[in-house]
Amino acid sequence: MQIKSVGVIGAGQMGAGIAHVVALNGYDVAIYDVDPERLDRCLENIKKNLARQVSKEHIDQAAMDKALSHISLAKDLKTIGQADLAIEAATENEEVKKSIFRALTPLLKPDALLASNTSSISITRLASTTDRPERFIGLHFMNPVPIMKLVEIINGIATNKETYETAVTFATSLGKTTAMAEDFPAFIVNRILAPMINEAIYTLYEGVGTVDAIDIAMRLGANHPMGPLELGDFIGLDTVLSIMNVLYEGLADSKYRPCPLLVKYVEAGWLGRKSGRGFYDYSGEKPVPTR
Ligand code: NAD
Repeated sequence: MQIKSVGVIGAGQMGAGIAHVVALNGYDVAIYDVDPERLDRCLENIKKNLARQVSKEHIDQAAMDKALSHISLAKDLKTIGQADLAIEAATENEEVKKSIFRALTPLLKPDALLASNTSSISITRLASTTDRPERFIGLHFMNPVPIMKLVEIINGIATNKETYETAVTFATSLGKTTAMAEDFPAFIVNRILAPMINEAIYTLYEGVGTVDAIDIAMRLGANHPMGPLELGDFIGLDTVLSIMNVLYEGLADSKYRPCPLLVKYVEAGWLGRKSGRGFYDYSGEKPVPTR
Protein backbone atom coordinates (compact mmCIF):
# COMPACT_ATOMS: atom_id res chain seq x y z
CA MET A 1 0.00 0.00 0.00
CA GLN A 2 1.29 3.46 -0.87
CA ILE A 3 1.24 6.27 1.64
CA LYS A 4 1.02 9.77 0.17
CA SER A 5 -0.72 11.73 2.89
CA VAL A 6 -0.45 11.55 6.66
CA GLY A 7 -2.69 12.85 9.45
CA VAL A 8 -1.21 13.51 12.89
CA ILE A 9 -3.43 13.75 15.98
CA GLY A 10 -1.89 15.60 18.92
CA ALA A 11 0.27 18.65 18.27
CA GLY A 12 2.56 18.37 21.29
CA GLN A 13 6.30 17.80 21.15
CA MET A 14 5.96 14.43 19.36
CA GLY A 15 3.18 15.40 16.95
CA ALA A 16 5.22 18.45 15.88
CA GLY A 17 8.35 16.35 15.39
CA ILE A 18 6.53 13.68 13.39
CA ALA A 19 4.84 16.28 11.14
CA HIS A 20 8.21 18.01 10.63
CA VAL A 21 9.99 14.86 9.46
CA VAL A 22 7.06 13.57 7.40
CA ALA A 23 6.72 16.92 5.55
CA LEU A 24 10.48 17.20 5.00
CA ASN A 25 10.34 13.86 3.24
CA GLY A 26 7.68 14.96 0.77
CA TYR A 27 4.43 13.72 2.31
CA ASP A 28 1.42 15.96 2.78
CA VAL A 29 0.63 16.17 6.48
CA ALA A 30 -2.35 17.56 8.37
CA ILE A 31 -2.08 18.06 12.14
CA TYR A 32 -4.98 18.17 14.58
CA ASP A 33 -5.19 18.94 18.31
CA VAL A 34 -8.15 19.46 20.67
CA ASP A 35 -6.44 22.61 21.84
CA PRO A 36 -6.23 25.14 18.94
CA GLU A 37 -3.51 27.10 20.77
CA ARG A 38 -1.32 23.99 20.73
CA LEU A 39 -1.76 23.78 16.97
CA ASP A 40 -0.48 27.31 16.39
CA ARG A 41 2.40 26.75 18.78
CA CYS A 42 3.20 23.49 17.01
CA LEU A 43 3.59 25.24 13.64
CA GLU A 44 5.85 27.87 15.24
CA ASN A 45 8.01 25.10 16.73
CA ILE A 46 8.26 23.30 13.41
CA LYS A 47 9.33 26.56 11.71
CA LYS A 48 11.91 27.21 14.43
CA ASN A 49 13.32 23.68 14.19
CA LEU A 50 13.46 23.73 10.38
CA ALA A 51 15.23 27.12 10.53
CA ARG A 52 17.77 25.60 12.94
CA GLN A 53 18.42 22.81 10.43
CA VAL A 54 18.94 25.45 7.70
CA SER A 55 21.37 27.42 9.90
CA LYS A 56 23.36 24.23 10.53
CA GLU A 57 23.33 23.55 6.77
CA HIS A 58 21.58 20.19 7.26
CA ILE A 59 18.92 21.31 4.79
CA ASP A 60 18.64 24.35 2.50
CA GLN A 61 16.03 27.13 2.54
CA ALA A 62 14.21 25.61 -0.45
CA ALA A 63 13.75 22.31 1.46
CA MET A 64 12.39 24.22 4.47
CA ASP A 65 9.92 26.15 2.30
CA LYS A 66 8.84 22.96 0.55
CA ALA A 67 8.33 21.15 3.87
CA LEU A 68 6.18 24.00 5.19
CA SER A 69 4.07 23.94 2.02
CA HIS A 70 3.25 20.28 2.79
CA ILE A 71 1.92 21.05 6.31
CA SER A 72 -1.65 22.05 7.07
CA LEU A 73 -3.45 22.60 10.36
CA ALA A 74 -6.70 20.63 10.63
CA LYS A 75 -9.71 22.19 12.37
CA ASP A 76 -11.32 18.83 13.01
CA LEU A 77 -10.80 15.09 12.86
CA LYS A 78 -12.66 14.90 9.52
CA THR A 79 -9.58 16.27 7.76
CA ILE A 80 -7.42 13.57 9.37
CA GLY A 81 -9.88 11.00 8.00
CA GLN A 82 -8.77 11.86 4.46
CA ALA A 83 -5.19 10.69 5.07
CA ASP A 84 -3.70 7.38 3.89
CA LEU A 85 -2.10 6.97 7.31
CA ALA A 86 -3.27 8.53 10.58
CA ILE A 87 -0.72 8.67 13.40
CA GLU A 88 -2.08 9.33 16.88
CA ALA A 89 0.40 11.23 19.08
CA ALA A 90 -1.88 12.57 21.82
CA THR A 91 -1.36 12.48 25.59
CA GLU A 92 -0.17 9.13 27.00
CA ASN A 93 -3.53 8.12 28.46
CA GLU A 94 -5.40 5.03 27.31
CA GLU A 95 -8.88 6.55 27.58
CA VAL A 96 -7.85 9.66 25.64
CA LYS A 97 -6.35 7.53 22.87
CA LYS A 98 -9.33 5.17 22.72
CA SER A 99 -11.79 8.04 22.45
CA ILE A 100 -9.74 9.52 19.60
CA PHE A 101 -9.77 6.22 17.68
CA ARG A 102 -13.50 5.74 18.30
CA ALA A 103 -14.21 9.22 16.90
CA LEU A 104 -11.78 8.85 14.00
CA THR A 105 -12.78 5.38 12.75
CA PRO A 106 -16.06 6.34 11.01
CA LEU A 107 -14.26 9.21 9.23
CA LEU A 108 -11.50 7.08 7.67
CA LYS A 109 -11.06 6.02 4.05
CA PRO A 110 -11.74 2.27 3.77
CA ASP A 111 -8.09 1.27 3.23
CA ALA A 112 -6.41 3.86 5.48
CA LEU A 113 -3.83 2.66 7.98
CA LEU A 114 -3.88 3.61 11.66
CA ALA A 115 -0.88 4.01 13.94
CA SER A 116 -0.25 5.07 17.51
CA ASN A 117 2.93 6.70 18.74
CA THR A 118 2.21 5.45 22.27
CA SER A 119 5.26 4.84 24.46
CA SER A 120 3.74 1.98 26.39
CA ILE A 121 0.01 1.27 25.88
CA SER A 122 -1.14 -2.02 24.30
CA ILE A 123 -1.46 -1.73 20.52
CA THR A 124 -3.88 -4.66 20.57
CA ARG A 125 -6.21 -2.87 23.02
CA LEU A 126 -6.10 0.42 21.08
CA ALA A 127 -6.68 -1.44 17.79
CA SER A 128 -9.74 -3.18 19.23
CA THR A 129 -11.56 0.17 19.43
CA THR A 130 -11.39 0.51 15.62
CA ASP A 131 -12.92 -1.36 12.68
CA ARG A 132 -9.47 -2.34 11.32
CA PRO A 133 -7.21 -4.01 13.89
CA GLU A 134 -5.38 -5.73 11.00
CA ARG A 135 -4.38 -2.31 9.64
CA PHE A 136 -3.39 -0.86 13.02
CA ILE A 137 0.24 -0.67 14.17
CA GLY A 138 2.53 0.96 16.73
CA LEU A 139 4.88 3.53 15.20
CA HIS A 140 6.96 4.68 18.14
CA PHE A 141 9.09 7.66 17.12
CA MET A 142 11.78 8.91 19.49
CA ASN A 143 12.14 12.44 20.84
CA PRO A 144 13.35 14.71 19.19
CA VAL A 145 11.97 13.11 16.03
CA PRO A 146 14.10 15.06 13.52
CA ILE A 147 17.29 13.90 15.25
CA MET A 148 16.63 10.41 16.63
CA LYS A 149 17.20 7.60 14.16
CA LEU A 150 14.92 4.89 15.57
CA VAL A 151 11.30 4.06 14.96
CA GLU A 152 10.18 1.13 17.10
CA ILE A 153 7.45 -0.79 15.28
CA ILE A 154 4.92 -2.75 17.31
CA ASN A 155 2.56 -5.31 15.85
CA GLY A 156 -0.73 -5.85 17.65
CA ILE A 157 -2.07 -9.38 17.76
CA ALA A 158 -4.19 -8.73 14.63
CA THR A 159 -1.76 -6.55 12.63
CA ASN A 160 -1.25 -8.06 9.18
CA LYS A 161 2.00 -8.49 7.29
CA GLU A 162 1.18 -5.89 4.67
CA THR A 163 0.63 -3.24 7.35
CA TYR A 164 3.93 -4.12 8.99
CA GLU A 165 5.78 -3.96 5.66
CA THR A 166 4.13 -0.65 4.74
CA ALA A 167 5.12 0.75 8.15
CA VAL A 168 8.75 -0.34 7.70
CA THR A 169 8.87 1.16 4.18
CA PHE A 170 7.31 4.38 5.48
CA ALA A 171 9.72 4.73 8.43
CA THR A 172 12.69 3.94 6.16
CA SER A 173 11.55 6.62 3.69
CA LEU A 174 11.87 9.12 6.58
CA GLY A 175 15.53 8.14 6.98
CA LYS A 176 14.82 6.09 10.11
CA THR A 177 15.95 2.62 11.17
CA THR A 178 13.30 0.32 12.58
CA ALA A 179 13.32 -2.23 15.39
CA MET A 180 10.37 -4.60 15.76
CA ALA A 181 8.89 -5.17 19.21
CA GLU A 182 6.13 -7.49 20.35
CA ASP A 183 3.09 -5.96 22.00
CA PHE A 184 4.08 -6.20 25.69
CA PRO A 185 3.86 -3.27 28.13
CA ALA A 186 6.19 -0.42 27.05
CA PHE A 187 7.70 -2.57 24.25
CA ILE A 188 11.54 -2.51 24.13
CA VAL A 189 12.80 1.07 24.52
CA ASN A 190 10.64 2.11 27.46
CA ARG A 191 10.68 -1.29 29.14
CA ILE A 192 14.35 -0.55 29.71
CA LEU A 193 14.53 3.27 29.74
CA ALA A 194 11.57 4.22 31.96
CA PRO A 195 12.61 1.98 34.92
CA MET A 196 16.09 3.53 34.72
CA ILE A 197 14.63 7.04 34.97
CA ASN A 198 12.29 5.88 37.79
CA GLU A 199 15.30 4.40 39.61
CA ALA A 200 17.18 7.69 39.23
CA ILE A 201 14.18 9.43 40.86
CA TYR A 202 14.28 6.90 43.75
CA THR A 203 18.00 7.65 44.07
CA LEU A 204 17.10 11.33 44.48
CA TYR A 205 14.12 10.54 46.78
CA GLU A 206 16.28 8.45 49.11
CA GLY A 207 18.93 11.17 49.25
CA VAL A 208 21.66 9.08 47.64
CA GLY A 209 22.57 12.01 45.41
CA THR A 210 21.47 15.47 44.31
CA VAL A 211 19.97 16.13 40.87
CA ASP A 212 23.38 17.32 39.67
CA ALA A 213 25.27 14.40 41.18
CA ILE A 214 22.91 11.81 39.67
CA ASP A 215 22.98 13.32 36.19
CA ILE A 216 26.74 13.92 36.20
CA ALA A 217 27.30 10.37 37.47
CA MET A 218 25.31 8.83 34.62
CA ARG A 219 26.64 11.18 31.91
CA LEU A 220 30.28 10.66 32.79
CA GLY A 221 30.08 7.27 34.49
CA ALA A 222 27.88 5.43 32.02
CA ASN A 223 28.63 7.62 28.99
CA HIS A 224 24.96 8.59 28.55
CA PRO A 225 24.47 11.76 26.47
CA MET A 226 21.89 13.03 28.99
CA GLY A 227 21.51 12.31 32.70
CA PRO A 228 18.36 10.32 33.62
CA LEU A 229 16.66 13.22 35.43
CA GLU A 230 17.41 15.58 32.56
CA LEU A 231 16.01 12.91 30.24
CA GLY A 232 12.86 12.47 32.37
CA ASP A 233 12.27 16.24 32.17
CA PHE A 234 12.86 16.11 28.43
CA ILE A 235 10.38 13.26 27.83
CA GLY A 236 7.78 14.81 30.18
CA LEU A 237 7.31 13.49 33.73
CA ASP A 238 3.59 12.82 33.09
CA THR A 239 4.61 10.53 30.22
CA VAL A 240 7.26 8.79 32.38
CA LEU A 241 4.65 8.22 35.13
CA SER A 242 2.12 6.86 32.62
CA ILE A 243 4.70 4.42 31.26
CA MET A 244 5.61 3.25 34.79
CA ASN A 245 1.93 2.71 35.58
CA VAL A 246 1.48 0.67 32.40
CA LEU A 247 4.51 -1.47 33.36
CA TYR A 248 3.40 -1.81 37.00
CA GLU A 249 -0.16 -2.79 36.13
CA GLY A 250 0.62 -4.72 32.96
CA LEU A 251 3.38 -6.89 34.41
CA ALA A 252 2.08 -6.98 38.01
CA ASP A 253 5.60 -6.74 39.38
CA SER A 254 6.49 -4.38 42.26
CA LYS A 255 9.86 -3.62 40.69
CA TYR A 256 7.99 -1.20 38.37
CA ARG A 257 6.40 0.78 41.24
CA PRO A 258 6.45 4.49 40.27
CA CYS A 259 8.57 6.52 42.68
CA PRO A 260 6.32 8.59 45.03
CA LEU A 261 8.43 11.66 44.22
CA LEU A 262 7.62 11.24 40.51
CA VAL A 263 3.92 11.02 41.39
CA LYS A 264 4.19 14.17 43.51
CA TYR A 265 5.94 16.14 40.76
CA VAL A 266 3.23 15.22 38.25
CA GLU A 267 0.49 16.10 40.77
CA ALA A 268 2.15 19.50 41.22
CA GLY A 269 2.12 20.06 37.46
CA TRP A 270 5.93 19.94 37.39
CA LEU A 271 6.12 18.01 34.15
CA GLY A 272 9.66 18.92 33.09
CA ARG A 273 10.78 21.06 30.17
CA LYS A 274 7.31 21.41 28.64
CA SER A 275 5.86 23.02 31.79
CA GLY A 276 9.00 25.01 32.66
CA ARG A 277 9.82 23.03 35.81
CA GLY A 278 10.67 19.46 36.71
CA PHE A 279 13.93 18.24 38.24
CA TYR A 280 15.34 21.44 36.73
CA ASP A 281 13.89 24.94 36.58
CA TYR A 282 13.83 26.14 32.96
CA SER A 283 12.73 29.73 33.59
CA GLY A 284 16.22 31.22 33.28
CA GLU A 285 18.87 31.03 30.56
CA LYS A 286 20.26 27.76 31.87
CA PRO A 287 18.37 24.90 33.57
CA VAL A 288 18.90 25.03 37.35
CA PRO A 289 18.54 21.85 39.49
CA THR A 290 15.58 22.05 41.88
CA ARG A 291 17.03 19.64 44.48
P1 NAD B 1 2.55 16.43 24.83
O1 NAD B 1 1.98 16.61 26.18
O2 NAD B 1 3.66 17.33 24.40
O3 NAD B 1 1.40 16.54 23.71
C1 NAD B 1 0.20 15.85 23.74
C2 NAD B 1 -0.80 16.60 22.88
O4 NAD B 1 -1.99 15.82 22.73
C3 NAD B 1 -1.24 17.95 23.47
O5 NAD B 1 -1.03 18.99 22.53
C4 NAD B 1 -2.72 17.75 23.76
O6 NAD B 1 -3.49 18.94 23.61
C5 NAD B 1 -3.08 16.71 22.71
N1 NAD B 1 -4.32 16.00 22.99
C6 NAD B 1 -4.80 15.55 24.17
N2 NAD B 1 -6.01 14.98 24.01
C7 NAD B 1 -6.30 15.07 22.68
C8 NAD B 1 -7.42 14.67 21.89
N3 NAD B 1 -8.47 14.08 22.45
N4 NAD B 1 -7.40 14.93 20.57
C9 NAD B 1 -6.34 15.56 19.99
N5 NAD B 1 -5.25 15.95 20.70
C10 NAD B 1 -5.23 15.72 22.03
O7 NAD B 1 3.00 14.90 24.74
P2 NAD B 1 4.11 14.23 23.79
O8 NAD B 1 5.39 14.18 24.52
O9 NAD B 1 4.05 14.86 22.45
O10 NAD B 1 3.58 12.72 23.74
C11 NAD B 1 2.57 12.33 22.81
C12 NAD B 1 2.61 10.83 22.64
O11 NAD B 1 3.90 10.44 22.15
C13 NAD B 1 2.38 10.03 23.92
O12 NAD B 1 1.68 8.85 23.61
C14 NAD B 1 3.80 9.72 24.37
O13 NAD B 1 3.87 8.58 25.17
C15 NAD B 1 4.46 9.48 23.02
N6 NAD B 1 5.92 9.62 23.01
C16 NAD B 1 6.52 10.60 23.75
C17 NAD B 1 7.89 10.72 23.73
C18 NAD B 1 8.58 11.80 24.52
O14 NAD B 1 9.80 11.72 24.71
N7 NAD B 1 7.88 12.80 24.98
C19 NAD B 1 8.67 9.85 22.96
C20 NAD B 1 8.03 8.87 22.18
C21 NAD B 1 6.65 8.77 22.23
